[in-house]
Amino acid sequence: MAKKKEMDTRFSKFGTVSFTAITKVNDFIDYLEEGRVMATRCKDCGLVFFPPRADCYRCLASNMEWIEISGTGKLVTYSKLEYAPIGFGDDLPYAIALLDYGDYKVFGRIAGDVPEEEIKVGMDMKTVANTLPNGQLNYVFEKA
Ligand SMILES: [Zn+2]
Repeated sequence: MAKKKEMDTRFSKFGTVSFTAITKVNDFIDYLEEGRVMATRCKDCGLVFFPPRADCYRCLASNMEWIEISGTGKLVTYSKLEYAPIGFGDDLPYAIALLDYGDYKVFGRIAGDVPEEEIKVGMDMKTVANTLPNGQLNYVFEKA
């Protein structure tokens, strides 16, 4: 008897609105549930990818390993949103931001409990796993 193929839809748990259920990097969600935010690194050339990718565009290979985004990154820029795309309205207001970790950059949002007046370009921030009110998973930036 043929075994029924099960779909790996772990990615449907990601974000306020999940735009995809299936990716080649579904393990990202398992790590998030453990409280870890992960990137992938090409074992051949060392390039780090965030969001994680399963394939290296430089080597045209798929020899990847998972690495944890730990330590702090510098806030490169941020923008406070007063209007949001459809489906994200209940999250307003929130700030999207970019952290520079040296070898790679992480795009995401600043945790809602960081007071706006304390947000300064160049400040150290850390990336942490987060559970949204609707039970979905994402990650946010907190003051380091
Ligand atoms: Zn590579």
